[in-house]
Amino acid sequence: MRDQIKDLYVGVDVGGTKIQASLITGTGSVLASNRRSTPRDCPSEVTIDVIEESIHELLMLQNYSADQLEGIGIAVPGVVRADNGYVVVTPNMNLSEVDLGRIMGERLGGVRVAVGNDCNLGTLGECWLGSGRFANTAVGIFVGTGIGAGIVNERRLFLGAGQVAGEIGHIVLQIPCESWQEQLRIKKSNRKQISQTIHAKKSVKTKKTKPITNRLGLVQCGCGNYGCFESIASRSAIERYIREAVACGAKSSITALNGGKLDVIKSGAIAKALKGGDEVVNVIVRYAAEVIGYACLTVQHLIDPDVILLGGGVIEACQKHMMPVIEAVLKSDNLKSATDSRRVLVSSLGDSAVVLGAVALVKGGGTSDVDRVGESMPKYSHLLMLADDVIHIDDIAYMSDFLLLPDGEIKARTKIPKKNPNGFRLKDIENAVQGGTDLLVLATPEADKIVLSEKCNAYLHRRGIDYRITKLKDAVQLYNNCNGRRAAVFHFGEK
Ligand SMILES: [Zn+2]
Repeated sequence: MRDQIKDLYVGVDVGGTKIQASLITGTGSVLASNRRSTPRDCPSEVTIDVIEESIHELLMLQNYSADQLEGIGIAVPGVVRADNGYVVVTPNMNLSEVDLGRIMGERLGGVRVAVGNDCNLGTLGECWLGSGRFANTAVGIFVGTGIGAGIVNERRLFLGAGQVAGEIGHIVLQIPCESWQEQLRIKKSNRKQISQTIHAKKSVKTKKTKPITNRLGLVQCGCGNYGCFESIASRSAIERYIREAVACGAKSSITALNGGKLDVIKSGAIAKALKGGDEVVNVIVRYAAEVIGYACLTVQHLIDPDVILLGGGVIEACQKHMMPVIEAVLKSDNLKSATDSRRVLVSSLGDSAVVLGAVALVKGGGTSDVDRVGESMPKYSHLLMLADDVIHIDDIAYMSDFLLLPDGEIKARTKIPKKNPNGFRLKDIENAVQGGTDLLVLATPEADKIVLSEKCNAYLHRRGIDYRITKLKDAVQLYNNCNGRRAAVFHFGEK
């Protein structure tokens, strides 16, 4: 059994479909995670039980108990009172009016519990360890089934007067009223024509009910309003567009890729269709990306943050296709700013952003002040290179390829690229930077001949991660001398 860690937390992400509990160190290393399905159509008591069980199970499997924890942070998709962890409302699940902070604290032997909104905590997590590390002001936008956001201002979560700031998904992007020209009947193209084109489409052969539209043809959002950002660019909107296009007779590979049905369209099927050059899916995803781009532009004009962070399932699955479009929309902005420092980046922490943010919340004493969360620097080993092809780390000699992760852990590199044996694949890079890093050191004997592929470059650039490709000896020095969070891939060359 490994040494028991003292500074230990649990972060829980309570989502509409799954509940993830993760065991996390005070420096932000995710040691283990446990996922369960969220119970549906049941009283809140059942969901509370599942949250408690998932924490107990996680701890048990790792040989810890709740009384060894410094605290537990819980993220829920709804409105939470920041002072006491009381859940006011969760529109898409059953935790409304639940005193979750107090209940979980009592059930888990008096351990400190903090509760917050999931998108707020995702943004907090990114500002603690991820792509928002260097940002003073950041807006995190998470595109999934719905669209949510979190705002960090002066390194602290901005909650708003009613603690519901950041409901970006319900910003109206399609104005749901007739223009004055239409009202004055100046133009002949009027609502009659619009509604005719909308209703002329063949009925969709799926179990999904037809979306409710207003007289201008705008689809009703889950919140009851029309023209919301979420109703035109979320995952649900993308699925709806695909169903509509297929029902209208547009030729697409998506039905076959999704197992012959389109009730629920899997991310994997969308990604495959994009990769295969499917026109329908490409056009629809591109349209959603343009809408996201314009929403980002609105955010930029309203808040002018140092960085806009994009995350969530849709961005994770389609980033290669979406990011260039989003970047182009932001670049097209004609309104000049005083400096040129603003950026749009992709989440570095992926699935872990929310649980890490939940830990940041409880660690910072519930203040949501990133600088009060404290030290995020794990203990890094000192690397020693005594001979040409041996690196010593903590008295162990390494002679074959390995990765050094941002939390200081060492991991064997499992696959060496066949085509370019001295180079690095995207997979190496994805594996190495998991958990958020300032610097990535890529060590190879052929450093002067190696150039990263455009894919790898874009991956690092979009997360604000610096990298250097150097020979092993220089890499050892770079790694040892780095003051920030660091990661490395060491390749020893062909033997
Ligand atoms: Zn809405």
